[in-house]
Amino acid sequence: MSDAGETFDCRMCGHVEKGDPGYHGICAGCRGEVVRRSTRWGTVPAVVAGALYFWMLAATGMFESRFLMVWVALGAAIVWVVFKIARRVLFDVVRARGVRVRMNKAKKA
Ligand SMILES: [Zn+2]
Repeated sequence: MSDAGETFDCRMCGHVEKGDPGYHGICAGCRGEVVRRSTRWGTVPAVVAGALYFWMLAATGMFESRFLMVWVALGAAIVWVVFKIARRVLFDVVRARGVRVRMNKAKKA
């Protein structure tokens, strides 16, 4: 019987969700929580990378450089890439550890 269409049990909270389990097999509530946490934690390595880069510019006297704007733009790009990679990695880390989703997340209609 598949009158309700595709359903799946969330791998994290066991909530039965309608629709396609997708790549991760977790429900929208869990997925949102994992994304939130990985985004929050992803800022840590990005800030560290930015601070290191800033320190490196200062240490090498790049602030005197005519190409300062280029270095700043490059730094911003590096921070962004670090953030994107960190968030992607953390998504898997957080997902593997699991999130404790409050029961009221699974609202019954
Ligand atoms: Zn879930």
